[in-house]
Amino acid sequence: MSSNSRVLPAAPDATSPVRRHFASDNYAGIAPEAWAALEEANRGHAPAYGNDPWTQRAADMIRRLFETPCEVFFVFNGTAANSLSLAHCCQSYHSVLCHDVAHIEKDECGAPEFFANGSKLLLLSGAHGKLSPEGIEEAVLRRTDIHYPKPHIVSITQSTEVGTVYTPAEVRAIGAMAKKHGFHMDGARFANAVATLGVAPREITWQAGVDVLCFGGTKNGIHVGEAVVFFNRDLAREFDYRAKQGGQLCSKMRFVAAPWVGMLQDGVWLRHAAHANAMAALMHELLSAIAGVRILFPREANAVFVELPKPVIQALYARGWLFYNFIGEGGCRLMCSWDTSEDDVRAFASDVAAVMEAK
Ligand SMILES: *Cc1c(COP(=O)(O)O)cnc(C)c1O
Repeated sequence: MSSNSRVLPAAPDATSPVRRHFASDNYAGIAPEAWAALEEANRGHAPAYGNDPWTQRAADMIRRLFETPCEVFFVFNGTAANSLSLAHCCQSYHSVLCHDVAHIEKDECGAPEFFANGSKLLLLSGAHGKLSPEGIEEAVLRRTDIHYPKPHIVSITQSTEVGTVYTPAEVRAIGAMAKKHGFHMDGARFANAVATLGVAPREITWQAGVDVLCFGGTKNGIHVGEAVVFFNRDLAREFDYRAKQGGQLCSKMRFVAAPWVGMLQDGVWLRHAAHANAMAALMHELLSAIAGVRILFPREANAVFVELPKPVIQALYARGWLFYNFIGEGGCRLMCSWDTSEDDVRAFASDVAAVMEAK
């Protein structure tokens, strides 16, 4: 086990190498459409640092997708997308209002504070991993004196860390509240939220007041990369410098951009997300029917959170399944991805049933 792995057991050697797991959507490989675009981009030479036709095309496709002339930057991962975009919106004495299970708080090793030179995250609670306008208002009004880290930008995660989805009305209500400040969206699983809601992407972003979206590519099926999308174009000023300074300007940028072209063509990104969501819906249905399994959150995207007895978790690990049991508010997280099959879900659920019965 490498020094940076978390509490999951190492994948047992005896496990079939093709088994698909439910630990995370980043356990999945590269979607064929992204792979094909990479291959196509690999023909000959192209200008570096994003001055290539693939990067131009991918950014234009994102602008078309959101139906607005936004500024688009490609970075390597979600931690960089979130922390650099937040840093770009904040002075060091500002604070970021976010949920206490937010990825920026729990899973980015302090990168937002680091890149923002000390901007503090102010943690709010809220049912089902969601912020509420009331909670935000309370936090903003709690203190207005100079001794308090000045509330500046609201950050929400769509879909959330616990697999729920903000409705368009909920995003709009937070957007109205955040108007005077700023509104950031961690969209590592934005695709899954759009697939659930069946809305145009603009309806839950700039039309709802979102200033900047970190649009996830990796968990949707790309090999590497997230797009930082500034709907508020004033805020994007000189972000190219910040990304470069943050080590996020890829020299062979076409290989970060090309998979986006493959995924955004013909709605591929949404199809993959809808499939992952459907597999999670099946998982939810099968696990709900097993006595002793407690579902922790409404299943609204591509994750199912359940509470399982410890010996059951160990027995499932012993059967070679990999899944996390510490994400969000605890419990076991079963995450489906673009390549999860119905057979995978049924095999896992039947192992859960067998192990629960034997307990
Ligand atoms: C995976 C994820 C990210 C991005 O994480 P990286 O490992 O830095 O790419 C961001 N936000 C959420 C909610 C995530 O689940």
